Amino acid sequence: MADYDIVIIGGGPGGYVAAIRASQLGFKTAVIEKDQMGGICLNWGCIPTKALLRTSEINHLLHSLDAYGFKAENISFDFKKIIERSRAVANQLASGVRHLMKKNKVTVLEGNAQIKGRLGTDIELTIDGKTTIKASHVILATGARARQLPGLESDGKLIWTYKEAMVPEKMPSSLLVIGSGAIGIEFASFYRLMGAEVTVVEVLETILPVEDKEISAFAKKSFEKQGIKIHTGTTVKSLKKNKDSVTATFESSGKSQELTVDRVILAVGIVANTENLGLEKTKIKVEKGHIVTNEWCATDEPGIYAIGDVASGPWLAHKAMHEGVLCVEKIKGLKSAHPMKTKNIPGCTYSYPQIASVGLTEDAAKALGRDIKVGRFPYIGNGKAIAMGETEGLIKTIFDGKTGELLGAHMIGAEVTELIQGFCLAKTLEATEQEMIETIFPHPTLSEMMHESVLDAFGQVIHM
Ligand SMILES: Cc1cc2nc3c(=O)[nH]c(=O)nc-3n(C[C@H](O)[C@H](O)[C@H](O)COP(=O)(O)OP(=O)(O)OC[C@H]3O[C@@H](n4cnc5c(N)ncnc54)[C@H](O)[C@@H]3O)c2cc1C
Repeated sequence: MADYDIVIIGGGPGGYVAAIRASQLGFKTAVIEKDQMGGICLNWGCIPTKALLRTSEINHLLHSLDAYGFKAENISFDFKKIIERSRAVANQLASGVRHLMKKNKVTVLEGNAQIKGRLGTDIELTIDGKTTIKASHVILATGARARQLPGLESDGKLIWTYKEAMVPEKMPSSLLVIGSGAIGIEFASFYRLMGAEVTVVEVLETILPVEDKEISAFAKKSFEKQGIKIHTGTTVKSLKKNKDSVTATFESSGKSQELTVDRVILAVGIVANTENLGLEKTKIKVEKGHIVTNEWCATDEPGIYAIGDVASGPWLAHKAMHEGVLCVEKIKGLKSAHPMKTKNIPGCTYSYPQIASVGLTEDAAKALGRDIKVGRFPYIGNGKAIAMGETEGLIKTIFDGKTGELLGAHMIGAEVTELIQGFCLAKTLEATEQEMIETIFPHPTLSEMMHESVLDAFGQVIHM
């Protein structure tokens, strides 16, 4: 007889959410975690970075006080305290997860878990190579770590990954960020607003390469206005470590240039944690470094599932959590269980300005041969944005011209990471353009721009 109905390897957002839902559904559940409950998201990802970004936003506001009628002199900050606050926020949430495990009667086992083999229909796991436990179902939620570039590896001192970038001993005066995905851009934004000289190098032609091109271009202009230097279509060839600085050589269109900075942040993606899991004893397939699953997160090995960053992308905490729930509900056989609709997963970058999107970009919609209608509404046309002093931004919506289906929404500006869920809900409910047009938005709010963008797509925009 199995010791547990469901054992989850990894206590990050995918794993702990799966555990809570499993327990709610009556499964005897355990989570095995080798490090910190909460995983990357709570300890080294989503949460501590948002604490830092809140600080840099406040710093930006403090330096804009005059516009709001305030006078303040000698504004300064204590960098150590800023980092301590970010760590305290992360610790508070991680301890909250441990409390949730207790409250939901989920057993937390500490140690490194590995698949040992099968015993009939059960799956045997070892913890730290010693204890063996049996489970009817196993969910792999082992997450991912920072990707390294050959020859440009991080050393934790001069060349950082996100981990060191989050807890520096002192504020660097100049930084090179390699990679302009959400993580790279969030660090670039934080350090720039705190006063560092920041350069971003991106090998592709646009920053935030998964975003709609118009939004990427808007973001680039906005970051450059703030003083961030951005080199797209550029490859970093070498990093030479000096005593307390790094000299980078990068190349664009055959031209080479050098830059010496205090520190470098490598933000070039992630590598899934698939090693030493005992996968070779199973039929589980790994492709491009990630575990292959079907739409219910099932792997090719009966009874074993994979969710979150260890499986296919997008590699985001809310995708991991959603998979945790749907996978457990499928195991339970709930009629209401629904497979993941990848095209409905939003993506957010919490920089200043913020960027958020869901669904197809304009280029992707066109490439699919869709006859599209595009709506746009700028922040400068919105009363609340003007009252807030946040007039830089754009909300873009893309509809199927024939069916009225919302294909994508792409936003840049204040609070768009909060606003995007309105479009996510519309996509889940498969709302038509007419239903969105008929929806009453409160005034004065930033959300009115979402309405106006939809109206614009259908030639009915009011405030523009
Ligand atoms: C700097 C940064 C900022 C980010 N910001 C955001 C954001 O704003 N929004 C967003 O949605 N996403 C963000 N992410 C991504 C997000 O953190 C991940 O998508 C999310 O953490 C994935 O969750 P997970 O449960 O799959 O894995 P993880 O959070 O990586 O957790 C996996 C856990 O498994 C444990 N583990 C691994 N192997 C074993 C083993 N063999 N035995 C026992 N335990 C094991 C690990 O110790 C870890 O705790 C960010 C990431 C970074 C790095």
